[in-house]
Parts: sequence; C-alpha cells; structure tokens
Amino acid sequence: MTEIENTEIMTEEKLIHQLLINLGENPEREGLKGTPQRAWRALRSLTSGYQQNLAALVNGAIFQSNMDEMVIVKDIELYSLCEHHLLPFIGKCHVAYIPDGKILGLSKFARIIDMYARRLQVQENLTQQIAQAVLSVTQAKGVGVIIEARHLCMMMRGVEKQNSQMTTSVMLGLFRENDRTRSEFLNLLSK
Ligand SMILES: [Zn+2]
Repeated sequence: MTEIENTEIMTEEKLIHQLLINLGENPEREGLKGTPQRAWRALRSLTSGYQQNLAALVNGAIFQSNMDEMVIVKDIELYSLCEHHLLPFIGKCHVAYIPDGKILGLSKFARIIDMYARRLQVQENLTQQIAQAVLSVTQAKGVGVIIEARHLCMMMRGVEKQNSQMTTSVMLGLFRENDRTRSEFLNLLSK
C-alpha cells in the first residue's frame, strides 16, 4: 500500500470516528473500536462500481448466435445505495433483450447490474444505465429492464411505509417501438 492511499484511509476513518461522536456515541467503547475501519471498508465495497468499466467487465463474453427470440434473465438480486440518504435500496432486476447476431454470457448480466448498483444511485438512473449498457455491449434489436425495489430511506425513516415498492422500467429499441414485444416481456415476467 502506498503512503498516499494509507493517508487517505486514515482520513476517512477519522471522519467516521468523528461521526460516531456527533451521533452521541463513544467510539472508544469495546463494540465500536474497529468500526471506523470496518465501516469505511464496507462503504468502499458498496461503491466499488466506480472502479469498474464495462469493457473490462464484459471481457469478451460476447458470442455469435442465430438466436433472434427474446432472452430474459429474471429475478437478479440487486443491492444499491440511494444517493440522497446513503441508505440501501434492495430488490430485483429483470433484463430482456432480442439478440441481433450476438449474445452475452449469462453471468455478465449480474455483473453489469452490480457495476452500476455499487454506486450512489437513484433507481430511475440505475435502470437506464443497465439498459444502455446491455444495448451497447450486445447491439441488440431491443432491451428491456425492470427494477422492483424497496428503499430503506422510505421504510425506516420519513414516511415509514414498510410495504411500498418502487418499479421502474426502461424499454429500448423493439421493446419501445413494438407493443407485442413489450407485452411478451411483461407476460413472461408475471409467470
Ligand atoms: Zn433515499
């Protein structure tokens, strides 16, 4: 580890140490001894998407295929942090596309989702970014992305609505232009 990185981490740990004091805690008590360091590491991990880029992540996992029917990857777990409160939002992401000569390795959908979810986000932008990323790597005829998520900033604070869920969708290409394609996607999801 370089000296610069080391100094930077120390600064962040000091900030969290001070935050604990401001919250009315005693950072020196047993249970909180290692908390600044752990919390900083956790935050770094939850925002590690900033360190990734799409090309490196896909890393050649694009394959030639004659498949020209809709491909759906359902119920991909999604964990992100809302950029307004730095609190988690948690849910599921469904991705569909209609290939145009190229298909993407299955595991890459989850990786693309994580790359954008592990940043400070709003659900609307996250949905858009995932759809654009899938479109740009596959050059598909169409891409549809739906996210259903619960936001802890709404469940634990503010209006305290525990059962509310937000759904966002982005439809590109054939999914936007063609009602039947969009209906097929929605029908397959509800099964
Ligand atoms: Zn929020």
